[in-house]
Amino acid sequence: MRPYSFWFIVGSQSLYGPEVLETVAQRAQEMADQLSRDLPYPLLYKVTAKSNQEIADVVKQANYDDDCAGVITWCHTFSPSKMWINGLAALQKPYCHLATQYNQEIPDQEIDMDFMNLNQAAHGDREHGFIAARLRMPRKIIAGYWRDQTVRDRLGSWMKAAVGAAVSRSMKVMRFGDNMREVAVTEGDKVETQTKLGWQVNTWAVGDLVKTMAAVTDAEIDALMETYKASYDIATDDIQAIRYQAREELAIKKMMDAEGCLAFSNTFQDLYGMEQLPGLATQHLMAQGYGYGGEGDWKVAAMTAILKAMGEGGNGCSLFMEDYTYNLTPGAEYSLGAHMLEVCPCCAAGRPRIETHHLGIGMNEKDPARLVFEGKAGDAVVASLIDMGGRMRLICQDIHCVKPILPMPNLPVARVMWQAEPSLTTGVECWIAAGGAHHTVLSYDVTAQQLRDWARIMDIEFVHINKDTTPESLERELFLSDLAWKLK
Ligand code: MN
Repeated sequence: MRPYSFWFIVGSQSLYGPEVLETVAQRAQEMADQLSRDLPYPLLYKVTAKSNQEIADVVKQANYDDDCAGVITWCHTFSPSKMWINGLAALQKPYCHLATQYNQEIPDQEIDMDFMNLNQAAHGDREHGFIAARLRMPRKIIAGYWRDQTVRDRLGSWMKAAVGAAVSRSMKVMRFGDNMREVAVTEGDKVETQTKLGWQVNTWAVGDLVKTMAAVTDAEIDALMETYKASYDIATDDIQAIRYQAREELAIKKMMDAEGCLAFSNTFQDLYGMEQLPGLATQHLMAQGYGYGGEGDWKVAAMTAILKAMGEGGNGCSLFMEDYTYNLTPGAEYSLGAHMLEVCPCCAAGRPRIETHHLGIGMNEKDPARLVFEGKAGDAVVASLIDMGGRMRLICQDIHCVKPILPMPNLPVARVMWQAEPSLTTGVECWIAAGGAHHTVLSYDVTAQQLRDWARIMDIEFVHINKDTTPESLERELFLSDLAWKLK
């Protein structure tokens, strides 16, 4: 990833004289330095903005700097907002308004009119908020004392969402083969998606992958086999099947790296010239941070890579997932998620095993090697991006992953089990009403709040199914939202 940073732009005006402005600048520098120690990305103090020109200039620089992942504004003093209009109207980076104050307490004895003039964020931040509201600017607003842990946590969380936006805007997806025949939800308007989200989604021939696979050397495979052995238990005698997956992994990685792609998709319906559907290969690529979507699902592939990047510094655990089957026993209602092969081992509760099994779906000449494991317990979300025709909708649901309640010894794939909010059945009703896909990104790192922030930055619809959601409230929300997005 790039060395992302955020720019701190502090509002003021020339009215107060150089002494006040010097104090504002010193404090802004101190705040940026101290916050940077605690935040996931550095906060760089850039300017005490006192004029239209200064603001327009710093915004131009921020737009131009690929390492700048967003701007954070705050008004230490009053800062008349007409001088912000030209700059804000040109701003192309994620925008957070930190409504804070340098001092925590009102100093009872010392407070006088000088103090009031210097410390009037309560005044200045309202003027600043008005102009952003008037300009209809998508923005995050965080209010509170800047030294408070809650404020810092919220700022850090938003920074990660903003980095997700930067990663999205440079996303390249490599497609091998088309979407699975006749499937609707994995389709989408790639032109609209590139316009809104920045993704470059293009196709490469499976034949070129097969050629690249043929050029992989035994030495390269030997080295990757050592990595496999260090990370996983080998629970098969069919070493050739594992070596074949290593060959596939190396070839896919070479092709993606040559094109700067962070995600890929393939389909079991187009494996011409390949002996096995990539299983272990795809799983190990995902473990390295690449996104993936099965059955040609390029949307979930890119979203997986974006959530992996957003969760950077957490436990790295965001993965391609698919709702498979339910346990509907009253009191033990769970969803079982898995995929044909391709579940990322970042969520493994224990050490994964490499196994080979027959795969009836697709054109596999040989039994594909795959990692088999149980997913870990923990609070998480599942997220699905769908194309509503004219706009994208991101649906997110809160879930609680558990240790699978059954051993399922004959299930030859990795599995994750969870309880969904507000309950399995109501959750399913809501998910289906919203049009959510069977493919999702499951994340133990990225929160619903971060996905909401990301959707706001990308200007797409966001739907959150949580403990308070009812089918009735959701139906109304979707109806109104549909009208609003058509008018937009
Ligand atoms: Mn699938």
